[in-house]
Amino acid sequence: MTDEKLLLTDAILETAENILRAGPICDECLGRAFAKVGYGLSNAERGRAVRIALNSRGVGAKSGTCWVCGGLFESVRDWAERAQAMSEGIEFDSYLFGVKLSARIRQGEKLYLERYPTGTHEPLKHAFNREVGKAFESLVGHATVDLERPHLSYVIDLSADRIELKVRSLYIYGRYQKFLRGIPQTRWPCRKCGGVGCEACNFTGKQYPESVEELIAAPFLVAAGCDTAYLHGAGREDIDARMLGSGRPFVLELVAPHVRSLDLVTLKEQVNTTQTRKVEVSDLHFVSHDTVALVKETHAEKTYHAVVSLSLPVDEKRLRAAVSSLIGQINQRTPQRVAHRRADLVRIRRLIDAQVKVLSEQEAELVLRGEGGLYIKELVSGDDGRTTPSLASVLGVGARVSELDVIDVSAKGFPDLV
Ligand SMILES: [Zn+2]
Ligand SMILES: [Zn+2]
Repeated sequence: MTDEKLLLTDAILETAENILRAGPICDECLGRAFAKVGYGLSNAERGRAVRIALNSRGVGAKSGTCWVCGGLFESVRDWAERAQAMSEGIEFDSYLFGVKLSARIRQGEKLYLERYPTGTHEPLKHAFNREVGKAFESLVGHATVDLERPHLSYVIDLSADRIELKVRSLYIYGRYQKFLRGIPQTRWPCRKCGGVGCEACNFTGKQYPESVEELIAAPFLVAAGCDTAYLHGAGREDIDARMLGSGRPFVLELVAPHVRSLDLVTLKEQVNTTQTRKVEVSDLHFVSHDTVALVKETHAEKTYHAVVSLSLPVDEKRLRAAVSSLIGQINQRTPQRVAHRRADLVRIRRLIDAQVKVLSEQEAELVLRGEGGLYIKELVSGDDGRTTPSLASVLGVGARVSELDVIDVSAKGFPDLV
């Protein structure tokens, strides 16, 4: 090392001399006190240089265990090896280490800072995490530290002598179509047993035998080598409604995947061929965690196809006029059928467009485009006066949706519509 890398002023050496006199200290901790002095050196190298300079002035150090860290830095390699063993069989590019210090070391570090406030001190945690990371990198031979979104996050708990590993979820955006009525979007725990398993649910713990979530996730779980997946949808259709047309945006979250470099083309084929006539996916691509909130919180416009039955015959002209008159503002009090899980309040939503195809005197097909959150069944039936106006109230005739399909879900900002 040259003087250019580390200029040891008299002030530095004087402080260092006081530190050495306090008791045995390791090169790492000695170097940390002057971490912002010079460049291109590790703390250990810096500490060694300071020690040599002091030795040549006749100042020696007591030998023994470092009074600041208790010899923590000697265990860097061990911790890195343990972390490497835990990463066995997991695909990753990036990592991050954190550490929970023991009370003894926290106290030593606090004292060190208070007694020798050099102004150039690197905190022990920071230095330790970096050193373990460097050792880990050299062991695994790839991977870089990522402070924001590491694939692997390790927390070293010194008191418990334990490492916790968290593997970052993998997120895949796509759109799904659901061709069959009666399938919920996500797993529903059994109403009777709450998911534990009982006779009513055939000990599956589920209210419905399958869900869009499970049908899509199945091949992904196998390919990624993990147990858990969540489907985050841009809203959800009723269980008895199909999801057709362009499909509904979703993000599939794979929890703690062992494989990250999934072949989305093959997986799409697997979903679409094994689940034919139930569910299909399209537009699959990898996204970041942020897309979950984007997809869930964006109020997308939705287009529905509804078959409507009328309680009395209505002539075509009157029906067309009634449907057109609905375009505009709709006041919708929380529908009775969802009142048990949604706050009871009046929402104002717009019906953007409406088209009619008459099937018979008492039956018609409607194509309705509305703002996110507009309840279509109630727009037709009136829900005992809770939705106004409604098709039933305008006609003065009972009206109800007998079949409902969602045919488009779109909003600016979805990853495929930016
Ligand atoms: Zn030390
Ligand atoms: Zn049950």
